[in-house]
Amino acid sequence: MGVRCHLKGKRLVKYRKINTLEVNRDYRNYIKIMEAEEMDVNLLKAVSEAPGVSGFEYGIPEIIKKELRGFVNEVREDKFGNLYVQKGRGAKTIMIAAHTDEIGLLVKHVDDKGFIRFAKLGGVPDHILLGQRVWIHGMKKRVRGVIGCKAIHVMKDEERKQLVTYDKMFIDAGATKDQLARLGVKVGTPITIDRSLTELENDVIVGRAMDDRAGCYMLIEALKRAKPTNRVVGVFTVQEEVGLRGATISAFAVKPDIGIAIDTTIAGDHPEIAESEAPVKLGKGPTILVADGRRDSLAGGTIANPIVRGWMMELAEKAGIPYQLEVLEGGTTDATAMQIAHEGVPSGCISIPSRYVHSCSEVVSKKDLQNGIKFLVKIMESKPPF
Ligand SMILES: [Zn+2]
Repeated sequence: MGVRCHLKGKRLVKYRKINTLEVNRDYRNYIKIMEAEEMDVNLLKAVSEAPGVSGFEYGIPEIIKKELRGFVNEVREDKFGNLYVQKGRGAKTIMIAAHTDEIGLLVKHVDDKGFIRFAKLGGVPDHILLGQRVWIHGMKKRVRGVIGCKAIHVMKDEERKQLVTYDKMFIDAGATKDQLARLGVKVGTPITIDRSLTELENDVIVGRAMDDRAGCYMLIEALKRAKPTNRVVGVFTVQEEVGLRGATISAFAVKPDIGIAIDTTIAGDHPEIAESEAPVKLGKGPTILVADGRRDSLAGGTIANPIVRGWMMELAEKAGIPYQLEVLEGGTTDATAMQIAHEGVPSGCISIPSRYVHSCSEVVSKKDLQNGIKFLVKIMESKPPF
């Protein structure tokens, strides 16, 4: 079921594909529909499948701008690629950041036969790559390819026991070097994994780049629904996966009173992770971060401002939104950049539990997404503690 919208004169016209009789002519009706509906899976699918490896996030801003037309006061982009969407006016500024980039690959070399060697952008685990079908985003044409390596039959016994690392892999587009050149595939061409979004049982969804398109989706939906009592600036940041670069810049541009990152986090509720290692579970609500950072030290991450964290916990409790407190070792979010902008921005982070993070099939729960949206709406409509 999909919801579409367009502007007719100054009024917003909404309709559901499934029932053309049900035409709703204003924003209030839109809200009613969205509350009654499960969720806009088509929008999540569109943002999940849009290509956008770090530094090449070209597929995303147009979807977001189109989706938010008529719902926000101001939209602008900076020279770095961050997209700023402002809604509401008030004395305080709340910056909410979701990153648009995904981990991915870049063409490093094309050999004489047309086989492509690639570099990794962001934390791409080697073991997820073999056999994947990819899109190579040539300047003239998007080209399909497959990631190959030596077949097991010709591997020596020792080789068979080892992980095949990415430098032993290559991409086969079925094309010659000259053909690829004509299609605009050259050194630096971005490559994304070709995987569509699909639904599993029990309100569970699997898709590519849920990190952090799930966050983008929630931010879009919350911006549509909220009537902020303050100045809310939603920032769709770029280059998070390669060092929080977009958030570093945008936190300086926005100069917020508080900053909140929205991202995905490790759900450890499957057979290969012990509960003590990653206690967050799918379907039990978004997480409110206490601290994250490098494994062993939590250096280089965020220690959420305790007042911001307490404020968010209270909002969730009052609204009956389930949440999970989180200490995450081995990763961080845009909150890390926001908290140290200017003279310090009290910051926090909300994440959606996800199984198989940084794989081609990241699994999230619809319930968590819906609760995440409700939570963001509450935050946008409440008085911040700073
Ligand atoms: Zn992320």
